[in-house]
Amino acid sequence: MRNKTYNRRKILIVFSFAVVMLLVLIGRLTYLMIFKADYYQERAEELHERERSIKAARGEIVDANGVVLATNQTVCTISVVHSQLKNSEQVIQMLSQELGLDIQTVRKKVEKVSSRELIKSNVEKSVGDRIREYELAGVKVDEDYKRYYPYDDLASRVLGFTGSDNQGIIGLEVKYDEYLKGQNGTILTTTDARGIDLEGIAEERMEPVAGRTLQVSIDYNIQSYAQQAAEKVREEKKADQVAMILMNPQNGEIMAMVNVPEFNLNEPFSLEAMGLEKAPADEEERQKLLNQMWRNTCINDTYEPGSTFKTFTAAACFEAGLLEASDTFYCPGYRVVEDRRIRCHKAGGHGSESFVEGIQNSCNPVFMELGARLGVERFYQYFKKFGVMEKTGVDLPGEAGTIIHKQENVGPVELATMSFGQSFQITPLQLATMVSTIVNGGERVTPHLGVRILDGDGNIIKNFSYDSKQVMSEKTSQQMQEYLESVVSEGTGKNAYIDGYEIGGKTATSQTLPRSAHKYISSFVGFAPAEEPKVLALVAIYNPQGIYYGGTVAAPVIRTVFENILPYLGIEKAGE
Ligand SMILES: [Zn+2]
Repeated sequence: MRNKTYNRRKILIVFSFAVVMLLVLIGRLTYLMIFKADYYQERAEELHERERSIKAARGEIVDANGVVLATNQTVCTISVVHSQLKNSEQVIQMLSQELGLDIQTVRKKVEKVSSRELIKSNVEKSVGDRIREYELAGVKVDEDYKRYYPYDDLASRVLGFTGSDNQGIIGLEVKYDEYLKGQNGTILTTTDARGIDLEGIAEERMEPVAGRTLQVSIDYNIQSYAQQAAEKVREEKKADQVAMILMNPQNGEIMAMVNVPEFNLNEPFSLEAMGLEKAPADEEERQKLLNQMWRNTCINDTYEPGSTFKTFTAAACFEAGLLEASDTFYCPGYRVVEDRRIRCHKAGGHGSESFVEGIQNSCNPVFMELGARLGVERFYQYFKKFGVMEKTGVDLPGEAGTIIHKQENVGPVELATMSFGQSFQITPLQLATMVSTIVNGGERVTPHLGVRILDGDGNIIKNFSYDSKQVMSEKTSQQMQEYLESVVSEGTGKNAYIDGYEIGGKTATSQTLPRSAHKYISSFVGFAPAEEPKVLALVAIYNPQGIYYGGTVAAPVIRTVFENILPYLGIEKAGE
């Protein structure tokens, strides 16, 4: 009996112990299954497969003749796989030396227990190749692409630049991102628990697809001439900035778009172009300055065009049948409109003059009279008809719209000032596009840069087409060509005259707002040849010091540019 009792006690103890053990195990299992499931799930996947992305090569941007304006450079990304390291000390020494990094920084990264630790990206290919040659276990050298602009600051705000993920940030890089970016690929490798690639198991590889090439109408040579000329006048006149546009007025192709000072596309976050050696510490302030530096004044900013806009008032009057070239006017130096006396730029007045003399003299009272003949309703009607109310539709992001009074708020005084280009604002590109219509036979064209998309072998994938519309009679356009040619040969635009060429154009001297600041914008719009023009150029010089008249400051800039590019474009001198 005693023995039996003893055995039962022994069984009970063993049984109780087993029950307790079982409960502990169940508890632990429950904990692992319910509370740590995600953790182990992740670990399990990490143990077996590792997916890495292979960056696609971004498409190039080439100019009208195939000159490469944006391309890629091969760079390397250096990283360390901790589980594969054999001689950490040697790796630390080598990486610190080759990459020029502080030894403590490298040590911290190499000794960190992680599946893959990035040491440095954007490393030059030659350095990457050298690191690979050490053949040190655990050191990984991956090839990568970095956007590269061979001409640094050429057409910086037009081309734009890309961010770290290869995406466009401003300019054409944003607008044509879908064609340029391509498609990233992936590598899927299977590894054991230590992260070492398992042999005999094929890695799955999805090849990246390279982006397409974008061909634009920018011409490297014309852009370079224009940029040099703009930089020269900016320095001479100590101006804040100079904007210049050269386009084909017949089809809207933009050959050059300049905003000096330009910035270096390979260093888009350096504020050097803003005259700052060091970026401000305040992040918000820094971003504000960068945004300002990246602005494309030709399309993102509006200004009062001033007298270049008189071309509109004259063309609208011809269209409406309210003006004959033989009409005569009288300028006493001002015109009284309601209770105001609005002055001509010539204080003593131009006296008696024909319409042709009026446009040659850029006489304000003549154009106020033309505005009055049109009246508010017709003025707005032609403003809309010629396309000036709408954006131009240029293929660049952030185009600014026209700023103009509501028609019902316009009285005789506003109408008078609008007739000579004040009291409303448009972009420089809008002005260039409007004058294109006036001198190209009357067609409103869409200014643009993108011409076609090519594959890597230069085969055409897609040609872009742009809208155009006849909005003015050919007769009015031909008359305007003739009168604007006389402005250059005999009037205020004579500083743009080149012996032997027939060039048309119009000067302007406008003010930035508020007028009390006495800051001026000198501008000139010119085209050649005067009959069936092949090129139209607009220059605007912001806040020039000293003499600021458009005829004196801006017209000679376009003469210099034309002297260089007219022979290049195959435009011959008259009579040759
Ligand atoms: Zn006058």
